[in-house]
Amino acid sequence: MEADLIRQPAAVLGDAIAAREVSAREVTKAHLDRIAQVDDRVHAFLYVDTDGALAAADAVDAEIAEGIRRSPLAGVPLALKDVLAMKGVPTTCGSRILEGWRPPYDATVVERLRAAGVIILGKTNMDEFAMGSSTEHSAYGPTHNPWDLERIPGGSGGGSAAAIASFEAPLAIGTDTGGSIRQPAAVTGTVGVKPTYGGVSRFGLVALASSLDQAGPCTRTVMDAALLQSVIGGYDPRDSTSINAPVPDVVAAAERADVRGMRIGLVKELSGEGYQAGVEQRFREAVAILEDLGAEVVEVSCPHFDYALGAYYLILPSECSSNLARFDGMRYGLRVGDDADRSVEEVMSLTREAGFGAEVKRRIMLGTYALSSGYYAAYYGQAQKVRTLIQRDFAQAFADVDVLVSPTTPTTAFRIGEKVDDPLAMYLNDIATIPVNLAGNCAMSLPVGLAPEDGLPVGLQVMVPPQADDRLYLVGGALEAALRDRWGHLLIEEVPAL
Ligand code: GLN
Repeated sequence: MEADLIRQPAAVLGDAIAAREVSAREVTKAHLDRIAQVDDRVHAFLYVDTDGALAAADAVDAEIAEGIRRSPLAGVPLALKDVLAMKGVPTTCGSRILEGWRPPYDATVVERLRAAGVIILGKTNMDEFAMGSSTEHSAYGPTHNPWDLERIPGGSGGGSAAAIASFEAPLAIGTDTGGSIRQPAAVTGTVGVKPTYGGVSRFGLVALASSLDQAGPCTRTVMDAALLQSVIGGYDPRDSTSINAPVPDVVAAAERADVRGMRIGLVKELSGEGYQAGVEQRFREAVAILEDLGAEVVEVSCPHFDYALGAYYLILPSECSSNLARFDGMRYGLRVGDDADRSVEEVMSLTREAGFGAEVKRRIMLGTYALSSGYYAAYYGQAQKVRTLIQRDFAQAFADVDVLVSPTTPTTAFRIGEKVDDPLAMYLNDIATIPVNLAGNCAMSLPVGLAPEDGLPVGLQVMVPPQADDRLYLVGGALEAALRDRWGHLLIEEVPAL
């Protein structure tokens, strides 16, 4: 155990800490050392909270010595996406406009992690305000994919996925508005879950698009994702969209890991044209394994999914143009131009001009336009109607099948610089992940192999109805176990040494 602390799953580390085979401090130190060793090449972290992490680890060790175990993850380190408020620790959302801001409070997710004894190592890199699919839109430089440092780790939560894939942390938190947990998971060979909308509190999560945003787990195993989701999930009166109902038992489902008798629908619209051959191939092979495990597979059509991307890129900019109005140079972070005799409006305008990057400005302008009085019905209103049609497609599909599956992304990780100047090419990465956000469902991406043409990871997406998160883990757990039997190890263990 000692020698290879960084390669252990979170569940194993948690048990070893509870059994006092290793201390939380030793586990935390091993991960901090790993970050010091590799993060200049990966750039997963924007901030490492060395002192805070070690102090939290010591507190867990003291409790364990007294026989108190706060949760199965007590003492296990975690990397937190920089879009969640953490008291006293810089929170930038990958933007210059929040540089220097230290939140005066913890997000509910952070509060729950602390209450469970999870050790927060630091904040991870992301596309500015979670807009992007490559982490190249971060104001602090891109994150590199541990499978090939010349390639993107996905986005917006590329930092969280890369931290997991490079063994800098066994657990991470991401947020998923249109795919920002699942797409990075797919291209880094890791597991990512977007919980049901309302399943995890958004209190203290800096809003991108409030009707879509959801925080969730990034891990290397399905069980670790289940343990993490059960720590952060559940009702929070401080989030008006939080679901006040019992959380499905995702840990029990990950343990059961059984698909016998399950009906699985293969979404016709989410494969074929536009999908890389090797991605399709690995996806189909994984579906065949699910069939071997006792599931029944049928093809399902969701005809309105073809319009999901268009609807999303009206709804998201509309909501974000309103949400990002609060960054005005008056209340948080950066302020530009108050050194001379200028009006408040001028200072606001200079601050936003200097503080926001090009993609953020593009979306604010798109959203402002889509919401303007003359165009509201034609753009925003129309997009909301499409959203309803997508929800109906899902409802109709789930009347016939238990889960839906698709490739998570159309391609494997692309090269840094390849799509950064082509917004539409960037947006197309989320073609398969966006329908779930529009409908408020939950979904998981898990690794199903390397594409033969480039040797890079491929993700399979499982989609289920709202509040049926446990079903994700039945499928994910079963498929992960079958693939591990086949390969003799997890896919992530094939990642090149850094
Ligand atoms: N890549 C998508 C976008 O740019 C998704 C973002 C997200 O989920 N935060 O909007």
